[in-house]
Amino acid sequence: MSLIDIVVPCYNEEEGLRHFVEVTNSVIEGIEGHRFRYILVNDGSKDKTYLVMKQLAEEYDNVKYISFSRNFGKEAAMYAGFQHTTGDYVIVMDADLQHPPQLFPEMIREVTLNGYDCCALRRTAREGESRFREFFSKMFFRMQNALSETKMPYGAVDYRIMTRQMVDSILELSEVQRFSKGLFSWVGFNTKWIPYQSVDREMGQTTWNFWKLFKYALDGITSFSVAPLRFISGMGIVIFVIALIYILITLIQTLIFGIDVPGYATTLMVTLFMGGIMEFSIGIVGEYLGRIFMETKDRPIYIIHHTNIEEDEKND
Ligand code: UDP
Ligand code: MG
Repeated sequence: MSLIDIVVPCYNEEEGLRHFVEVTNSVIEGIEGHRFRYILVNDGSKDKTYLVMKQLAEEYDNVKYISFSRNFGKEAAMYAGFQHTTGDYVIVMDADLQHPPQLFPEMIREVTLNGYDCCALRRTAREGESRFREFFSKMFFRMQNALSETKMPYGAVDYRIMTRQMVDSILELSEVQRFSKGLFSWVGFNTKWIPYQSVDREMGQTTWNFWKLFKYALDGITSFSVAPLRFISGMGIVIFVIALIYILITLIQTLIFGIDVPGYATTLMVTLFMGGIMEFSIGIVGEYLGRIFMETKDRPIYIIHHTNIEEDEKND
């Protein structure tokens, strides 16, 4: 009998967590040949998520929890969860039932019988979501894939099952600023993508606003690509060539026709234009510099406050 760990990052999920475990349990009961264990990660929730977890752990033997000392973000929560898995397979999913556990049998089949290392979900329809957000989401995936070698299919969500081997590979990537969608594809292995219909959140609220998503997208691009830096050097060369041509023209003009004083508009335009480009370029360099800064500090990705997982159950 193989063990499957279910890693669930939770932030302010007190309303829905119990329901999530109950629904998932009803699915698990119908699956034979596998044992399941929950690894619930409380990512510094401001509500009573931790108490709900503790209660669930008392009621069900197979519920393990890790509770952070503060909010470290979903990426850190997933990493912590993975570090505490020992199962032959690991599932990662959201706590809000937007990732239907009813798909378990199909996902498990792909990794146990069909020889895949991973089976991941891809969202098809985004009901209840604004066109605006969908547009930016599409644009993000397109840009990400154009700029980086690490490809991510459109609509990829953090709902997947992976083999032990793949999880161990992901754990070896110990960067502080984690962008899991990229890390999952960076490690390689064979992934089976299954499309599914997105459903609305049952309880609680999404904590992702537009600004947070924008920063997330920026993280994704700067984590996996240096194309923006190359773009700056490219732009530099183009501007240099244009400037050279213009200098030659002006020089010849001056030599032949003498000094033509009016030139206020061109001077102003060139100065402002160059200033803008400088600022923009420094900004991009700054983004990368900031990332290096954060990585070199080498701080832990998360800090645990409470857990019911014993030291020897851990996997490093
Ligand atoms: N989450 C987390 N830490 C955070 C924000 C979210 O662990 O700082 C968890 C959250 O509890 C949920 C999952 O990540 O299980 C996805 O969050 P959410 O449903 O808010 O995002 P969406 O479904 O809108 O992408
Ligand atoms: Mg959600």
